[in-house]
Amino acid sequence: MTSLLPKKPPTIARGRSGAISQNTVGIVEFDIYSDAHFMRKAYSLALQAYHEGEVPVGAVVVGHNRIIGSGYNQVERLADITAHAEIMAITAATQFLGAKYLVDCTLYVTLEPCAMCAGALHWAQLGRVVFGARDPKKGFLRYQPPVLLSKVEIVPGIMETECATLLREFFL
Ligand SMILES: [Zn+2]
Repeated sequence: MTSLLPKKPPTIARGRSGAISQNTVGIVEFDIYSDAHFMRKAYSLALQAYHEGEVPVGAVVVGHNRIIGSGYNQVERLADITAHAEIMAITAATQFLGAKYLVDCTLYVTLEPCAMCAGALHWAQLGRVVFGARDPKKGFLRYQPPVLLSKVEIVPGIMETECATLLREFFL
Protein backbone atom coordinates (compact mmCIF):
# COMPACT_ATOMS: atom_id res chain seq x y z
CA MET A 1 0.00 0.00 0.00
CA THR A 2 2.98 2.32 0.54
CA SER A 3 3.83 2.10 -3.14
CA LEU A 4 1.43 4.97 -3.83
CA LEU A 5 3.38 7.60 -1.92
CA PRO A 6 6.41 8.37 -4.11
CA LYS A 7 4.46 8.70 -7.34
CA LYS A 8 5.81 10.70 -10.21
CA PRO A 9 3.58 13.65 -11.07
CA PRO A 10 0.67 12.87 -13.40
CA THR A 11 1.13 13.42 -17.09
CA ILE A 12 -0.28 16.75 -18.13
CA ALA A 13 -2.78 16.52 -20.95
CA ARG A 14 -3.14 19.23 -23.57
CA GLY A 15 -6.01 21.02 -25.24
CA ARG A 16 -9.25 21.81 -23.40
CA SER A 17 -8.32 19.62 -20.49
CA GLY A 18 -4.63 20.47 -20.64
CA ALA A 19 -2.52 22.67 -18.48
CA ILE A 20 0.20 23.96 -20.78
CA SER A 21 -0.17 26.17 -23.80
CA GLN A 22 2.12 28.34 -25.88
CA ASN A 23 1.01 31.79 -26.96
CA THR A 24 1.81 33.52 -30.25
CA VAL A 25 5.06 35.03 -28.97
CA GLY A 26 6.35 31.67 -27.83
CA ILE A 27 5.93 32.14 -24.10
CA VAL A 28 4.74 29.02 -22.35
CA GLU A 29 1.78 29.74 -20.12
CA PHE A 30 0.53 27.64 -17.26
CA ASP A 31 -3.24 27.50 -16.99
CA ILE A 32 -4.02 26.97 -13.32
CA TYR A 33 -7.72 26.67 -14.11
CA SER A 34 -7.42 23.58 -16.32
CA ASP A 35 -9.36 20.38 -15.83
CA ALA A 36 -6.05 18.69 -15.02
CA HIS A 37 -5.43 21.19 -12.21
CA PHE A 38 -8.76 20.58 -10.51
CA MET A 39 -8.57 16.84 -11.08
CA ARG A 40 -5.25 16.83 -9.26
CA LYS A 41 -7.07 18.38 -6.29
CA ALA A 42 -9.71 15.65 -6.46
CA TYR A 43 -6.94 13.05 -6.75
CA SER A 44 -5.24 14.35 -3.58
CA LEU A 45 -8.54 13.84 -1.76
CA ALA A 46 -8.77 10.30 -3.15
CA LEU A 47 -5.29 9.67 -1.73
CA GLN A 48 -6.54 10.88 1.64
CA ALA A 49 -9.43 8.41 1.44
CA TYR A 50 -6.96 5.67 0.51
CA HIS A 51 -4.85 6.31 3.58
CA GLU A 52 -7.95 6.24 5.77
CA GLY A 53 -8.94 2.83 4.46
CA GLU A 54 -11.83 4.16 2.36
CA VAL A 55 -12.42 3.34 -1.29
CA PRO A 56 -10.19 6.04 -2.85
CA VAL A 57 -12.48 8.51 -4.55
CA GLY A 58 -12.17 12.30 -4.22
CA ALA A 59 -14.23 15.19 -5.58
CA VAL A 60 -14.25 18.98 -5.79
CA VAL A 61 -16.94 21.41 -6.93
CA VAL A 62 -15.62 24.41 -8.83
CA GLY A 63 -17.48 27.66 -9.45
CA HIS A 64 -15.87 30.60 -11.24
CA ASN A 65 -12.48 28.86 -11.15
CA ARG A 66 -12.63 28.47 -7.40
CA ILE A 67 -13.06 25.31 -5.34
CA ILE A 68 -16.23 25.89 -3.32
CA GLY A 69 -16.68 22.37 -1.99
CA SER A 70 -14.62 19.23 -1.65
CA GLY A 71 -14.93 15.78 -0.22
CA TYR A 72 -13.81 12.20 -0.32
CA ASN A 73 -15.45 8.87 0.20
CA GLN A 74 -16.26 8.33 3.91
CA VAL A 75 -18.69 5.42 3.71
CA GLU A 76 -16.74 3.35 6.28
CA ARG A 77 -16.05 6.12 8.78
CA LEU A 78 -19.62 7.40 8.78
CA ALA A 79 -21.20 3.97 8.21
CA ASP A 80 -23.29 5.73 5.59
CA ILE A 81 -23.65 4.38 2.07
CA THR A 82 -24.56 7.86 0.81
CA ALA A 83 -21.21 9.34 1.95
CA HIS A 84 -19.70 9.18 -1.53
CA ALA A 85 -17.13 11.84 -2.48
CA GLU A 86 -19.57 13.61 -4.82
CA ILE A 87 -22.28 13.90 -2.17
CA MET A 88 -19.78 15.27 0.35
CA ALA A 89 -18.48 17.82 -2.17
CA ILE A 90 -21.97 18.89 -3.27
CA THR A 91 -23.10 19.30 0.35
CA ALA A 92 -19.99 21.36 1.17
CA ALA A 93 -20.53 23.56 -1.90
CA THR A 94 -24.20 24.24 -1.21
CA GLN A 95 -23.42 25.04 2.42
CA PHE A 96 -20.67 27.40 1.27
CA LEU A 97 -23.03 29.18 -1.11
CA GLY A 98 -26.06 29.01 1.14
CA ALA A 99 -28.01 27.83 -1.90
CA LYS A 100 -29.25 24.45 -3.06
CA TYR A 101 -28.37 24.74 -6.77
CA LEU A 102 -24.91 24.63 -8.30
CA VAL A 103 -25.74 26.00 -11.73
CA ASP A 104 -22.62 26.90 -13.76
CA CYS A 105 -20.47 24.78 -11.46
CA THR A 106 -18.27 21.84 -12.43
CA LEU A 107 -17.83 18.67 -10.41
CA TYR A 108 -14.45 16.94 -10.67
CA VAL A 109 -14.38 13.39 -9.38
CA THR A 110 -11.74 10.69 -9.72
CA LEU A 111 -14.26 7.95 -10.56
CA GLU A 112 -17.27 7.98 -12.86
CA PRO A 113 -20.24 8.83 -10.60
CA CYS A 114 -22.68 6.09 -9.65
CA ALA A 115 -26.40 6.44 -10.38
CA MET A 116 -27.08 7.85 -6.89
CA CYS A 117 -24.48 10.58 -7.28
CA ALA A 118 -25.57 11.32 -10.85
CA GLY A 119 -29.07 11.81 -9.43
CA ALA A 120 -27.66 14.29 -6.89
CA LEU A 121 -25.78 16.09 -9.70
CA HIS A 122 -29.04 16.25 -11.61
CA TRP A 123 -30.96 17.74 -8.69
CA ALA A 124 -28.18 20.19 -7.85
CA GLN A 125 -28.20 21.28 -11.52
CA LEU A 126 -24.46 21.16 -12.10
CA GLY A 127 -23.55 22.21 -15.60
CA ARG A 128 -20.45 20.09 -16.11
CA VAL A 129 -19.09 16.80 -14.83
CA VAL A 130 -15.43 15.80 -15.23
CA PHE A 131 -14.27 12.39 -14.08
CA GLY A 132 -11.10 10.28 -14.09
CA ALA A 133 -11.52 6.51 -14.10
CA ARG A 134 -14.45 4.90 -15.86
CA ASP A 135 -16.75 2.52 -13.98
CA PRO A 136 -18.44 0.21 -16.49
CA LYS A 137 -20.12 -1.82 -13.72
CA LYS A 138 -21.57 0.86 -11.45
CA GLY A 139 -21.10 4.13 -13.35
CA PHE A 140 -24.06 6.23 -14.43
CA LEU A 141 -23.19 6.10 -18.15
CA ARG A 142 -24.49 2.53 -18.37
CA TYR A 143 -28.03 3.74 -17.75
CA GLN A 144 -30.38 4.71 -20.54
CA PRO A 145 -32.02 7.17 -20.71
CA PRO A 146 -29.19 9.18 -19.12
CA VAL A 147 -29.56 10.24 -15.50
CA LEU A 148 -28.05 13.65 -16.17
CA LEU A 149 -29.78 16.33 -18.20
CA SER A 150 -28.77 16.30 -21.85
CA LYS A 151 -27.32 19.82 -21.63
CA VAL A 152 -24.73 18.74 -19.04
CA GLU A 153 -21.23 18.56 -20.45
CA ILE A 154 -19.52 15.28 -19.52
CA VAL A 155 -15.74 15.04 -19.75
CA PRO A 156 -14.37 11.54 -19.01
CA GLY A 157 -10.82 10.31 -18.69
CA ILE A 158 -8.94 13.20 -17.03
CA MET A 159 -6.03 11.56 -15.11
CA GLU A 160 -7.76 8.28 -15.89
CA THR A 161 -4.65 6.11 -15.42
CA GLU A 162 -3.72 7.59 -12.03
CA CYS A 163 -7.29 7.44 -10.70
CA ALA A 164 -7.82 3.86 -11.88
CA THR A 165 -4.43 2.72 -10.56
CA LEU A 166 -5.24 4.08 -7.11
CA LEU A 167 -8.52 2.15 -7.04
CA ARG A 168 -6.84 -1.02 -8.31
CA GLU A 169 -4.16 -0.82 -5.61
CA PHE A 170 -6.84 -0.37 -2.95
CA PHE A 171 -8.66 -3.51 -4.01
CA LEU A 172 -5.51 -5.65 -4.33
ZN1 LIG B 1 -21.74 7.69 -5.92
